[in-house]
Amino acid sequence: MSQQILSIIVPCYNEEESVPLFYAEADKQTAFFRENGVELEFIFVDDGSRDKTVEVVKKLRESDERVHLISFSRNFGKEAAILAGLEKAEGGFVTLMDADLQDPPALLPQMYSHITKDGFDCVATRRVDRKGEPPIRSWFARRFYGLMRKISTTEIVDGARDFRMMTRKVVDAILSMKEYNRFSKGIFGWVGYRTKWLEYENIQRAAGETKWSFWKLFKYSLEGIMAFSTAPLIIPLVMGIIFCAAAAALLIVSIVRGVMGFDVGILILSCVIAFVSGIQLACLGIVGMYFSKIYLEVKNRPKYLIREEF
Ligand code: UDP
Ligand code: MG
Repeated sequence: MSQQILSIIVPCYNEEESVPLFYAEADKQTAFFRENGVELEFIFVDDGSRDKTVEVVKKLRESDERVHLISFSRNFGKEAAILAGLEKAEGGFVTLMDADLQDPPALLPQMYSHITKDGFDCVATRRVDRKGEPPIRSWFARRFYGLMRKISTTEIVDGARDFRMMTRKVVDAILSMKEYNRFSKGIFGWVGYRTKWLEYENIQRAAGETKWSFWKLFKYSLEGIMAFSTAPLIIPLVMGIIFCAAAAALLIVSIVRGVMGFDVGILILSCVIAFVSGIQLACLGIVGMYFSKIYLEVKNRPKYLIREEF
């Protein structure tokens, strides 16, 4: 690890067109960082691309020693690419960027100065609008963040991008989270630390097309909910209580109707069915609550993270 290196991690999935554009743009920041005694290090993580991404990165390497490549055996997803990059990064400062130039490298000097001059541990970015995105996707995205705010204790910021610069301390904290199902937006929020948020407007992709289909995003959002909330496990308990309450109401109705001399056979039957279903659901909910504890234990997250100590 070296304080004099800024590692730039770039997950790439079929980005043969974007990689050279990205490299050219990011390389423009070299001068600024050299002035500050910091060298750049590019880590391209090829996430099982089927195009010429690997060849393109190798070509860059021929003329630039700072370029590194990790190439996956197949497509493992962006989360895996981020993790591989973080594990390989040598820098005291690390930044995550998309290959498609939606994360402007021109922001890097500003991010660096927030860390070195203003004492932040981490500079994150969020986009303030979703211009150029299908409206239905934006709608679902907003519902997802709204839901997460309610059911998760971890702060997950709406519009947050993965584009961020972190100190070594933060990177090590992220790496200390060994969980298998990784949802970075949640992990970043979970580790905490002093974070500066920069906002910018959505920028269109430089080349190629988005790798996220609606379906892929939907699955990703379920992953986020399951990784950072155990609230769904309580649903059967709540439903069980509702069913038992309904059974009690039905019982009262049956008694009243019975006293009035009506036939209450069907009512009693409904009452029994509601009660038995309610008990079953409630038991499932109780099991779910213990299950949620086991789930959290198995993740084996650090019990705390220290920012500073004497
Ligand atoms: N990406 C990846 N693996 C995947 C999907 C995407 O490494 O399975 C990379 C992709 O190459 C890009 C970044 O993740 O550098 C963001 O993807 P994209 O631009 O398609 O997402 P969007 O900006 O549309 O949300
Ligand atoms: Mg993109």
